[in-house]
Amino acid sequence: AVRPDVRAINTGVIMVVQLTMFLFIPSRVKLTIPVALFGAVGTTVSYWWTSPADAATKAATVLLVTMPAVMGYVAALRQQKTERQEFWLRQQLQDANRELQGEVARRVALQVELERQAATDLLTGLPNRRALAERFPVEVARAQRTGEALSLVMFDLDHFKQVNDRYGHAGGDAVLRSVGQLCIRSFRGVDMAARVGGEEFAVLLPGASAQQAGAVMERFLHTLGGLDMDIGPHNVRVTATAGVAQQQPGEDLDALMARADTALYAGKQAGRNRVVLAPAPG
Ligand code: GH3
Ligand code: MG
Ligand code: MG
Repeated sequence: AVRPDVRAINTGVIMVVQLTMFLFIPSRVKLTIPVALFGAVGTTVSYWWTSPADAATKAATVLLVTMPAVMGYVAALRQQKTERQEFWLRQQLQDANRELQGEVARRVALQVELERQAATDLLTGLPNRRALAERFPVEVARAQRTGEALSLVMFDLDHFKQVNDRYGHAGGDAVLRSVGQLCIRSFRGVDMAARVGGEEFAVLLPGASAQQAGAVMERFLHTLGGLDMDIGPHNVRVTATAGVAQQQPGEDLDALMARADTALYAGKQAGRNRVVLAPAPG
């Protein structure tokens, strides 16, 4: 038989061990349960047969040994639940964060695309008048800084109404697209060719005087005039007339365009398919 004082210590030790098991390894509840059960049942059985105490004392001792296991189990379950919730919340937060980042990226891309579309002519894919107006002050500032010239060309297709009459509006559109393609092929990267009206185009040429821009346009009009455009079954040729004006200090885009337009008009009057340089004002 075990001595009563040893038994009391035994009971205490078993209680502490059982509580400790649950509290320090709460993530292993399923493993801890059989061990705790084994401890409680084993202690109970051996104690019941060896102890000389009366039934009430035995029952109380059994309860004392079993309670920590039950309490430890409940505490461990709670902690597990809390940990799972925390994990789940962290996961939710991460997911939400990722989604937000994706959304921001999508919106930035959309913004860029919208700005590109707002600055692009749908028919030809060339920059439009708005894009030209945005670029102009940048180039004026650069010209001022470097002391280089800056020129603007306006050109308008000749007798385009006849093209529409002969090949239909769709045929006219196809010609405009071909002219747009030729612009993309012909001008330097620093130049900006834009479609600014129905069959009117503008070209901004940084670093070019009126004479230099005029020479560039002579070549361009020559190439354009010799270009065979396939419009359905037809082979179409068009010419254009260009007016060139060199930007004067302080001259804004509207004034510069107006001078180039006046030169263009003079070119139409003089018989079309030619380049006319605007005289410097004053
Ligand atoms: P000019 O040599 O004097 O310029 O003669 P033109 O016939 O070209 O005369 P004008 O420049 O005044 O006419 C432009 C014509 O271009 C009128 C219009 O029907 C046509 N046009 C304008 N925009 C478009 C377009 O987007 N597509 C097509 N197919 N035609 C257009
Ligand atoms: Mg025209
Ligand atoms: Mg016109």
